[in-house]
Amino acid sequence: MSDIPEREARVFMRAGKRQPLTLVRGEGVRVWDEAGRSYLDFTAGFAVDSLGHCPPVVVATLVKQAATLLQVSNAFYSVPQVELAELLVEHSCLDRVYFVNSGAEANETAFKLARKWGKLHKDGAFEIIAAENSFHGRTMAAVSATGTAHYRDPFTPLMPGFPFVPYNDVDAIRAATNENTVAVLLEPVQGEGGVNIPAPDYLRKVRQWCDEHNLLLILDEVQTGMGRVGALFGYQRAGVEPDIMTLAKGLGSGVPIGAVLAKEHASVFEPGDHGNTFGGNPLMTAVGRDVLRYIIDHDIPANAERQGVRLMERLRGIEDRFPQVRAVRGQGLLCAIEFHEPIADAVNHHCIANGLLVNVVKPNALRFIPPLIITEEDVDEAMVLLERSLADAMAAPAPS
Ligand code: PLP
Repeated sequence: MSDIPEREARVFMRAGKRQPLTLVRGEGVRVWDEAGRSYLDFTAGFAVDSLGHCPPVVVATLVKQAATLLQVSNAFYSVPQVELAELLVEHSCLDRVYFVNSGAEANETAFKLARKWGKLHKDGAFEIIAAENSFHGRTMAAVSATGTAHYRDPFTPLMPGFPFVPYNDVDAIRAATNENTVAVLLEPVQGEGGVNIPAPDYLRKVRQWCDEHNLLLILDEVQTGMGRVGALFGYQRAGVEPDIMTLAKGLGSGVPIGAVLAKEHASVFEPGDHGNTFGGNPLMTAVGRDVLRYIIDHDIPANAERQGVRLMERLRGIEDRFPQVRAVRGQGLLCAIEFHEPIADAVNHHCIANGLLVNVVKPNALRFIPPLIITEEDVDEAMVLLERSLADAMAAPAPS
């Protein structure tokens, strides 16, 4: 290892944990460290690098747009911004788009939209029912809506108005609804919560409840959107239409961009209600536009589904051979393996040693969120490396 970790320790705020790797280059499904060692990347920048590392389409658009127009304020019209918004509207069930810079900011914006809608249409109702084990980001309102205590507890008092209910339990949503309820906020599949896939009719029943009680359904598709779960959006797999949807991660395939989409009836912002300096700048929206075109033209969601099925078959084989495995689950290329014991760090340690990057999503679970352009060979190689790493971890647990 180089001196980067030591240098960082002197100047950087320690807000998160690092793996013992400094990555310097990426191409396709692989990244390289400073020593020139390559790794098969089944983390994809946490489900961001949907088209792989340094995809030619992103690089070409970045170079062209950077030399044309980087940024103008949102006081002016912008061609790439409109083009990306048009594409998103054309390919989704939503009618209007607002651009931001991250998933958390997209959710913040969605909450403001829902609260304003509550003032206009529901006597000031403001509560947004959220799910236990959910993850919606780290800004103040997003963390308040996140149903995982360790993300919230250090930052109390939090923003009020986010009651939590168990995920995949429509009766709990019914019971939590009161005259203050304005919306229900859910991930179609919980990603950070450990890849939790609800019953096939869960979102349909939630949609029905929302319709009956004049509630907005907000789907956080920051992780599930843009092809990750084998359809362009998770709501399509679930057979429901949200009133509001948030996107980020795969929308830019490596560049920071997020978006809030809303149906016409939920699109209640007026000039002056919201704004940001960088959101929807020409550089990021030009990339988002070309990423989305690429995803559609090459039917990337179909590849995510195909490779996801293969990945799950391979994971089930590992489950059969290793009694340490409690369960495997996945939808498209959002998959996880869960162990009986908290051995995910140990297995991950050996994965890195064997040249595979995976994500420790829980002390007892690993998540696989590779680029959506992976091939059968990549899946097979990753599963050989995973099986080897699991065997290595059983033989020699990682140093603590
Ligand atoms: N929502 C979901 C479902 C996520 O998975 C994430 C990040 O993992 C976020 C929101 C937050 O996105 P960001 O880190 O871009 O703020």
